[in-house]
Amino acid sequence: MREGILFIVSGPSGSGKTTLTKHLIRRFSDLKFAVSCTTRRQRPGEVDGVDYRFVSEKEFEDMIHGNRFAEWAIVHGKRYGTPIEELERAKSSGVDLILDLDVQGARSIRNKYGLGVYIFVVPSSFDVLKERLIKRQSDEKFEIIKRLGDAKREMEEIKLYDYIIINDSLDEALENLAAVVLAERCKKDRVLELIKSNY
Ligand code: ADP
Ligand code: 5GP
Repeated sequence: MREGILFIVSGPSGSGKTTLTKHLIRRFSDLKFAVSCTTRRQRPGEVDGVDYRFVSEKEFEDMIHGNRFAEWAIVHGKRYGTPIEELERAKSSGVDLILDLDVQGARSIRNKYGLGVYIFVVPSSFDVLKERLIKRQSDEKFEIIKRLGDAKREMEEIKLYDYIIINDSLDEALENLAAVVLAERCKKDRVLELIKSNY
């Protein structure tokens, strides 16, 4: 059994990370989504423990002090963190894991663990991003303005990523993302580890 691969997906708010990730885990039964903790409010349709674990500021603080996070960051004014046990699950079970992290979280995981496949999702223009955030109707106007402002800063980190998925056509973006997963699974070191004892 090889160690699970960590696929880290970042991109500005509204770029399509959640949509693509959901489609991807439906396609690959052996790819799991790492559930983060957050202090932001639950949106209609989101399920606690599936999309996020929605926690209070106090619970989040307690988790920080208990060293329960592999990384955590303040994003668009709220706290988000990856519980260590989510990563350990992938490591010990050989299951590949997909993490939806902002650029700070991605940098922390890279610096701390020195592994992972880093994927940046973005539509081809800022105008499309803006239109999608407005159409999504999940954030107040001031939140949308904040998220769009943050997008400019997040774009400055795009060069640190291994792959860029342009999300204009959803089907095309999904095919490209699936291709990344398949290609990474075929990397020689990962495959040799699986078959070497047979030869
Ligand atoms: P993120 O998780 O990156 O914030 P979402 O997955 O919530 O982004 O997508 C933002 C909005 O754009 C959602 O309403 C989603 O349905 C829509 N969306 C995502 N990808 C596409 C696409 N390729 N074409 C049109 N709409 C899209
Ligand atoms: P949203 O509120 O739109 O679901 O997510 C806002 C941002 O938080 C996105 O950029 C998403 O990638 C990021 N995010 C979600 N979970 C985590 C996490 O555990 N850690 C970090 N650093 N960012 C996260």
